[in-house]
Amino acid sequence: MSTNLSSRMKNVSVSPTTALFAKVDEMKRQGVDIISLNVGEPDFPTPENIKEAGIKAINEDFTKYTTGNGIAPLREAVAKKVMADNGVYYELNEIAIMTGAKQALSCALMAIVGDGDEVIIPVPCYVSYPDMVKLAGGTPILVERNADFSLDLDAISSAITDKTKAVIVCSPDNPTGAVYSKDSLRALSEIAKEKDIFVISDEIYEKIIFGENKHFSIASVPGMKDRTVLVNGFSKTYSMTGWRMGYVCARKDVIAAAIKVQSQTTTTPPSISQMASLEALTGSQESVSMMVSEFEKRRDYVFERLNAIPEVVCGDIQGAFYAFFDVRKYIGSLGADGRVFSDDKELCAYLLEDYHVATMPGSAYFAPGFIRISFASSMEVLKKALDRIEMGLKAHKC
Ligand code: PMP
Repeated sequence: MSTNLSSRMKNVSVSPTTALFAKVDEMKRQGVDIISLNVGEPDFPTPENIKEAGIKAINEDFTKYTTGNGIAPLREAVAKKVMADNGVYYELNEIAIMTGAKQALSCALMAIVGDGDEVIIPVPCYVSYPDMVKLAGGTPILVERNADFSLDLDAISSAITDKTKAVIVCSPDNPTGAVYSKDSLRALSEIAKEKDIFVISDEIYEKIIFGENKHFSIASVPGMKDRTVLVNGFSKTYSMTGWRMGYVCARKDVIAAAIKVQSQTTTTPPSISQMASLEALTGSQESVSMMVSEFEKRRDYVFERLNAIPEVVCGDIQGAFYAFFDVRKYIGSLGADGRVFSDDKELCAYLLEDYHVATMPGSAYFAPGFIRISFASSMEVLKKALDRIEMGLKAHKC
């Protein structure tokens, strides 16, 4: 007998975003005026029509367990949405409503990844992918993306072994804001078909896309529907992070297995949130366009301010609400202030402690030497935050 923790826990860490969230919260409680650019959630309230649908569900006592895969009207609405937006037809038994896109990813990974199986993850990547793979018993295989954060298809191809089960892609992407081109996703499809592997396609930022960029779902490539696990959610598009709603569309055996995991862990997604999500998909989409046009203005502002800081490089931000900028010139050398930052984590700790602005180190996304900020804050807040970042970086370097 032993009261040790499970050996699985040795390799799994707390999400760095969650950990920093707790630290910032503690500093704020001590009265420090911190600006948080570390959290990935829209600053807008959940749209009124969606809130009303949630309130109505409560008032009508729609407050009990539902079917494990989510209520049929919501799966129907997802099927319609995916058909209209992505051109792929899913039957209702090829869709499962989940308690957030994170749970959708996690259940899908548990459904398809066995002990020792490998999952290829192009990096930089969303903080949670590697640990989710580990929790499912698999091994994450991290492969670098190109310098402009497009997919390095040769690197992906070379990383495939007979243990590879899947590749995870996210477009528009957290943390870099990159949108993968149709051509690169088509080329990835050819690799997936040839090597007989799944593609897990995280499309949670689908609607937050700027300028000429267009979202393209790899599930729509001929022959890809059955090997794609399409994950999406309500948190970002409808500013519903706290409602915990997402969904997964895939082959029906994959969905049945993912539902087994959900049924043995959380039973069902929340009934109230399902009614709110039904309104999100079927009601007016005006709030989405309003949010996206606001994000685009902020994107332009943040991009300009960051690139105006000496030796900071921020590439094109095509979607999502993050700027992922290169600060390698600020690391490893003696600054004008007599300090040396040995890595991006120390640089972010300095910005937090001395300039009271919370940012995420690129190493959390397996890209050391970068910093990620979220621009899901008002222009006023962003202006103040960028003044602080600029002051902090200049104090060190100039
Ligand atoms: N995928 C990506 C790329 C994300 O950035 C996030 C949230 N930060 C999620 C999934 C999880 O979203 P949800 O709130 O729906 O669990």
